[in-house]
Amino acid sequence: MINFNVPPYTGKEVEYMKEAIENQKICGDGPFTKKCNEWIENQTGTAKCLLTTSCTHATELAALLAKIKEGDEVILPSYTFVSTADAFVLRGATAVFVDIRPDTMNIDENLIEDAITERTKAIVPVHYAGVGCEMDAIMDIARRHNLMVVEDAAQGIMASYKGKPLGTFGDFGCFSFHETKNFSMGEGGALLIRDEKYIEDAEILREKGTDRSKYYRGQVDKYRWQNYGSSYLPSDMNAAYLYAQLELAEEITQARMDRWNQYRELLTPLAEAGKIELPYVPEYCIHNAHMFYIKTKDMEERSRLIEFLKQKDILSVFHYVPLHSAPAGIKFGRFHGEDKYTTKESERLLRLPMFYKLTADEVEYIAEQVKAFYR
Ligand SMILES: *Cc1c(COP(=O)(O)O)cnc(C)c1O
Repeated sequence: MINFNVPPYTGKEVEYMKEAIENQKICGDGPFTKKCNEWIENQTGTAKCLLTTSCTHATELAALLAKIKEGDEVILPSYTFVSTADAFVLRGATAVFVDIRPDTMNIDENLIEDAITERTKAIVPVHYAGVGCEMDAIMDIARRHNLMVVEDAAQGIMASYKGKPLGTFGDFGCFSFHETKNFSMGEGGALLIRDEKYIEDAEILREKGTDRSKYYRGQVDKYRWQNYGSSYLPSDMNAAYLYAQLELAEEITQARMDRWNQYRELLTPLAEAGKIELPYVPEYCIHNAHMFYIKTKDMEERSRLIEFLKQKDILSVFHYVPLHSAPAGIKFGRFHGEDKYTTKESERLLRLPMFYKLTADEVEYIAEQVKAFYR
């Protein structure tokens, strides 16, 4: 059976986790957490990175730092994971969904401006499959309307738009290290902070409302309750697991990219014959091979293909059910404008197995079976 996902594992994780245990520092903000933060700061050039317990929590931190409150509105795509909306809805905001572009499955930047009202506080682009949204246009709209930008870059580490890493355009960027992502720590994430003025508040929010981060740095002689907050810092054992993968980030990304390019090459004849569509990556976007998907004719054909592949021992999966059609989406949000592509394209999209140790032989077999289905 070829699984859809296998959590990334390099071999060094156990050694580093053992080291964390022997350091007698397994709680948050230990040596491995610092190493991960610094690695991400160096790789992305962001002013500050704070490892978190999930991307969901990183987004919650961003919503708190952006001072999102009851009655505010945030603009986001409906084709995304629930967390993108949850973080803002939890603060009492309304999720205003706009349509996606059918080519990248990202928010259609040309529809954002029309959805802005005097209540709008933030735009939340989601870089689907690690392919950058049109950040030039989005940042220009945000500047002109004085809006915050929170990038859901859960799938976007090691990817860039016009040479700049995803997660570093907006006021805040959020990475995920869930086991389904390119690099993992089981459950985990990171908040990227562009502007230094937010660092202190972010540290306090993340540490139960205390200035313990300052205390650890020796900047204050005791730490105290400073503000409201919660616990958003992961155990150093989890950070140790992640650090083993960050050290091999280039190698892991290259391995995924090789499989991604192989899929594309093998399936191009089917696309040229008009049977399926392949992912589109604008030439100024460097992606990270987070996902390989194809688009079938419609949902019915997709269901048959999933079943066919399952019989050939291949697990393939569809992705998001648009949020605006879900019970909470109806309760906490509204779709602005026409749903021209969100529902239609989401029903056609099928994700093929993609993970670090996927082999060339496996990709060849999978592509062969997809071709067999269309014969
Ligand atoms: C995975 C994912 C999340 C959630 O990440 P967690 O670390 O599981 O909280 C949010 N948004 C998108 C687009 C994702 O792919």
